[in-house]
Amino acid sequence: SLFRLATAEVRNILKRSYNTSNVAPTVKMFIDGKFVDSTTKEWIDLHDPATNEVVTRVPKCTNDEMEAAVESSKRAFKTWSQTSILTRQQVMLRLQQIIRANMSELAKNITKEQGKTHVDAEGDVLRGLQVVEHCCGITSLQMGETMPNIAKDMDTYSYTLPLGVTAGITPFNFPAMIPLWMFPVAITCGNTSIIKPSERDPGATLLLMEMLTEAGCPPGVVNVIHGAHDSVNFICDHPDIRAISFVGSDQAGKYIYERGCKNGKRVQSNMGAKNHGVVMADANKNATLNQLAGAAFGAAGQRCMALSTAIFVGEARAWIPELVERAAKLRVGPGHMPGVDVGPVISPQAKERILSLVQSGVDEGAKLILDGRNVKVEKFEKGNFVGPTILTDVLPSMKCYKEEIFGPVLVCLSAETLDNAIEIINKNPYGNGTAIFTTNGATARKFVNEIDVGQVGVNVPIPVPLPMFSFTGSRGSFWGSEHFYGKQGIKFYTQTKTVTQLWRDTDVSHTQAAVSMPT
Ligand code: NAD
Repeated sequence: SLFRLATAEVRNILKRSYNTSNVAPTVKMFIDGKFVDSTTKEWIDLHDPATNEVVTRVPKCTNDEMEAAVESSKRAFKTWSQTSILTRQQVMLRLQQIIRANMSELAKNITKEQGKTHVDAEGDVLRGLQVVEHCCGITSLQMGETMPNIAKDMDTYSYTLPLGVTAGITPFNFPAMIPLWMFPVAITCGNTSIIKPSERDPGATLLLMEMLTEAGCPPGVVNVIHGAHDSVNFICDHPDIRAISFVGSDQAGKYIYERGCKNGKRVQSNMGAKNHGVVMADANKNATLNQLAGAAFGAAGQRCMALSTAIFVGEARAWIPELVERAAKLRVGPGHMPGVDVGPVISPQAKERILSLVQSGVDEGAKLILDGRNVKVEKFEKGNFVGPTILTDVLPSMKCYKEEIFGPVLVCLSAETLDNAIEIINKNPYGNGTAIFTTNGATARKFVNEIDVGQVGVNVPIPVPLPMFSFTGSRGSFWGSEHFYGKQGIKFYTQTKTVTQLWRDTDVSHTQAAVSMPT
């Protein structure tokens, strides 16, 4: 029961897979239902972004270890794909209870490895949990189609069947949510799944494996391997892996899409973004400015749906000084500290990149009206902190506009009219998300109709759809045909078998063989 799962007993189980004590431990693989040490000689140090101290070391798994994961997945597929759909549903029902009861434990691990604030880390878990909850409805979601009497005594029906072994490659910015976009959908459809979490924060994935085991999921149904490029290449090339789900940067996403597709796999690839918020002068000023600041600087801007670009239309430009005031009030610090709004960015390299993009804006003529580059956080001087930063007078030709900054930096553009704003957004190669802030329904409607972006918010700054829909980024932000979760997620992880059957009491049909197509 939920009560039993929330007890100390489960908390102890959780601690076993991943040791968060001060002695730098190593991260284990999860193969065939067991947490195993890698025998590799190559390790990646994982640093706490708030201190840059080494928290743990992540193995670059050996080829044999990755092969063992595939073997385990293949073996498990034989039985798992034949279990009743109710059995798979039960695993999801239990998993959702366990995750809910242990949200805070997961969030603590996320803050330690990834840096985001504890409350935000709980949001990371919750948004993944909602996918698990959606999977609990698999009994309706995986139904096929039927059509009786398509000819005399003949019926056609289709089954929606699993593919086999699937794989997921995840980014650092949502260590719980994104693995949960992948393996729950894959396995409730009857597939097995190999997850290669981000080498920068794999802890949440391993905690989820403890929970999945506790939920009664058999060994081999999900395996976890670690590494960087070599493990990605292994997944792209392995003939027994049928489908790859990827979320991360453009560079990796395009590469994985091309390499995976070339090897005949199904690939869905969610990539980078540059999300614009259009501020109309008739918007609710107070709500809009709060939403802009939250969506630009929350999670230190390291969300693929962060509103990293604001377009102020006409008179709305006069609100910028007030936006600066609100942004300047946000508290920068380590994610575990109560009251902190903006945690560190993932690495010193990420910080350097962010600062250099800000500088490029200044060099190209933008105005730096809020400068978070030299923010100091007492007792955490070594952390990768960047304070909220705002650049105005930015033009679409500038590097700080063209590149995804992925930090707490808001670039502001101006437009004379809504048409001008729409034109700017539609010319941008990315299509992940966008939002308009207005109190005028006709303005909102025009924006929704004319904007060429896959996820649109009207007075909603980060319009990520709940899992009964799909995550529908478009253009440069997504390569593939079926999106993550929702009906499209089920479609991605399944194939259709269509059966046409003829059952007749007596054979009255033909006296001789028919060699031409029926007319
Ligand atoms: P990343 O591409 O560096 O890493 C993602 C995964 O790819 C990791 O598992 C990593 O090991 C692997 N990888 C990295 N570089 C590779 C390469 N050159 N070849 C093969 N594999 C490689 O991404 P990240 O920095 O962890 O995540 C941030 C990025 O992810 C941002 O661009 C963000 O917009 C994007 N993102 C997109 C979405 C979305 O849904 N569109 C969601 C979250 C994050």
